[in-house]
Amino acid sequence: MTGRLTFDAIVVGAGPAGVAAALTMARGGLNVIIIERGRFAGAKNLFGGVFYTHALADVLPDYWERKPPFERPVTEQGYWMLSPDSAIRVMHKSERYLKEPADAYTVLRARFDPWFAEQAAAAGALLITRTTVTQLLKDERGRVIGVDTDRPEGKVYAPVVIIAEGVNNLLTQQAGLIASDLPPKYVALAVKEYINLPAKDLQIRFGLSGPREGVAIDVFGDVTLGLPGTGFIYTDQSGISIGVGMLLDEFVTHRLRPYEVLERFKHHPVVRPYLEGGEVREYGAHLIPEMGYDRMPKLAGDGVMVAGDAAGMVDALHREGTNLAITAGKMAGETALAAHQAGDFSAAFLSRYRRNLEGTFVLQDMKQYRRMTDFLESSPQFMGTYVNLLNEAALRYFTAHGIPKRTMEHDILKMVRERRSFTGVAWDMLKLMRAMRG
Ligand SMILES: Cc1cc2nc3c(=O)[nH]c(=O)nc-3n(C[C@H](O)[C@H](O)[C@H](O)COP(=O)(O)OP(=O)(O)OC[C@H]3O[C@@H](n4cnc5c(N)ncnc54)[C@H](O)[C@@H]3O)c2cc1C
Repeated sequence: MTGRLTFDAIVVGAGPAGVAAALTMARGGLNVIIIERGRFAGAKNLFGGVFYTHALADVLPDYWERKPPFERPVTEQGYWMLSPDSAIRVMHKSERYLKEPADAYTVLRARFDPWFAEQAAAAGALLITRTTVTQLLKDERGRVIGVDTDRPEGKVYAPVVIIAEGVNNLLTQQAGLIASDLPPKYVALAVKEYINLPAKDLQIRFGLSGPREGVAIDVFGDVTLGLPGTGFIYTDQSGISIGVGMLLDEFVTHRLRPYEVLERFKHHPVVRPYLEGGEVREYGAHLIPEMGYDRMPKLAGDGVMVAGDAAGMVDALHREGTNLAITAGKMAGETALAAHQAGDFSAAFLSRYRRNLEGTFVLQDMKQYRRMTDFLESSPQFMGTYVNLLNEAALRYFTAHGIPKRTMEHDILKMVRERRSFTGVAWDMLKLMRAMRG
């Protein structure tokens, strides 16, 4: 880059939030640049991952004709609750999942993100990769007027910058939208492997009739040694995405290494048979912001907005993040279009971005689950004691011991009472309800 480069808008980061913002603005006629530090869009990105199509359809209504590189539709989903040697599985399968396009697909980000970025480029956005935005440029009144990059003479100017930098929100801090780094209590670290398996084996093991079926399983309990966190197993076209995530705090307090927790999960007696003969093709780790609604940054300042993970827009309970990012990116893009029409890039004008987002599932869900991270951290019995109890109770219930069933029921109740008093259980349920209702 040489000379003074000026655009109508700059987007930092070519993840779902940034690309949705750029696409929206380019389609609205703005001259947009997306700056991405990876070798290509998606090169640095990793997720579970289940991708929800509703947000994509909103930003790109003809996405299906553009042949997105999805892995498998999610046609069966649910939870496995693991004790050290067994599992209760609650799975939901329905004919209504068998539609095209489906509501959700498994996705590999190294394939999906470049495709999505191509759609923004086709709409006219300029995508520059291998370039890191090192700082925001501000005028004498502190208004953001552009960015500096790690390229020689790499300054780029625009009246509005949309920060979509993901969880490492250094620029969001520089913009003054959030005070400091997220505390480890509110950031999860997830590790994931992609394990290659022939599609035929995968389909037999997961009971799938062909490539148009797929499974998404979220796992609790022994997967994280009974600590707050989750694991996941998702079927891709010819492989399995398997991973585990816990709050950074928990890894530190319990001196756990993420890779060892994942290995332990893979060797669980219920999980191991699904992976047998598979080859690990990729391994990666990534942070997830779990700051919740109350700790989110301000979403707009003078000449700047922030969207996606950088703003903590994740609903971990429902494993949603990409759809929040795309919806927020689109709304930030729409706000930039309106700002251009009004010729007003002030924080006061751009704050309509947040107001609009308050009307959507993005901020409404975040508000509803604002207490979830704190609740799980303060109630470890949900991932430990209760999951183990349920597995024990199931074992007794499903085994014939030659004793009357009434005695077996009493045994189960006695076992529950020994591990958690009835008042304790009632109190936990009340806390759970409060955490779910916001
Ligand atoms: C293990 C795991 C499992 C998940 N599972 C799911 C799931 O199943 N479903 C779901 O919907 N969500 C899931 N999520 C969450 C989801 O991945 C995120 O919410 C989503 O990717 C956020 O999109 P984003 O565009 O805000 O950020 P990102 O996808 O992180 O993109 C940010 C981009 O900005 C670039 N960048 C950063 N800084 C700079 C800079 N200074 N200069 C230039 N470029 C920069 C990065 O390279 C990156 O490309 C999961 C996350 C993880 C880690």
